[in-house]
Amino acid sequence: MSDTIKFGPAGNSKSFYDAGFKHSYQMPKYIEDKSLGWYEYSCGKGANLKQETAQKIGQEAKKHNIGMSIHAPYYINLSNPEEEKRQKSREYIYQTLQLAHYMEATRVVFHPGACMKQSRGVALNTALREMEIIIDEMDQQGFQDVIICPETMGKKNQLGTLDEVIQLCLVDERIVPTIDFGHLNSRGQGCIESQEDYAEILDIIESALGSERLNKLHIHFSHQEYTNMGEKKHLTFEDIAYGPFFEALSKEIVKRKMTPVIICESRDTMIEDALIMKKIYQQDLL
Ligand SMILES: [Zn+2]
Repeated sequence: MSDTIKFGPAGNSKSFYDAGFKHSYQMPKYIEDKSLGWYEYSCGKGANLKQETAQKIGQEAKKHNIGMSIHAPYYINLSNPEEEKRQKSREYIYQTLQLAHYMEATRVVFHPGACMKQSRGVALNTALREMEIIIDEMDQQGFQDVIICPETMGKKNQLGTLDEVIQLCLVDERIVPTIDFGHLNSRGQGCIESQEDYAEILDIIESALGSERLNKLHIHFSHQEYTNMGEKKHLTFEDIAYGPFFEALSKEIVKRKMTPVIICESRDTMIEDALIMKKIYQQDLL
């Protein structure tokens, strides 16, 4: 499903509920009707969906030709110094993988963790060991059909700089980074402005992980307000006080002939803004 570029929303948009829909299994058709191609189902608050509900969402996605990913719970922390808590985090990832399996979702996105009172190096080393355990467990449980995608994070005390996410991806060649450009921009106090800024990030990924993983990148995109601590909140594309802006990234994606999955994480307007991105991209293709 990722041999061509796909655009889609993270979670369910305000417009979806305003149109009278209530259930996530109604989203795939809604997404198709909006001429988008992907649905990132959010388990941010817990991966405790019933098997039959997950299968129903998956069947609808298949019927409407919508690719799927799942966002794992937000409270996962692979760098927690307490083994018991890390074990819980691993279990949340396995639960999400199980749901992905039921939904036939091909990607699971997760937040790597928090530094807490540890140095970044210690936190990263702990998370790296966890990634190895998770990859082994995935092989044993038969989850090879799902790709796990650790995400770059927007708050400075979170694990998830570009380099840290690359390190996590180096654990196994099947791990693909989720590059949240909004998060990178928030963490870097508005560091992403020009096409060259995007090119630099993509070059770093390509030289560390290779062109295949660059091509099938998982991308999160939204405008985000930030403070000196990093990300404060996700905005909509109508809010232009903060970036980053998609136009320059689109040009770079076209230039490199990349086929990423691009998920819009705007607040409320994730469907509408995903469509704006798709149109910008299609213009650039001409
Ligand atoms: Zn996320």
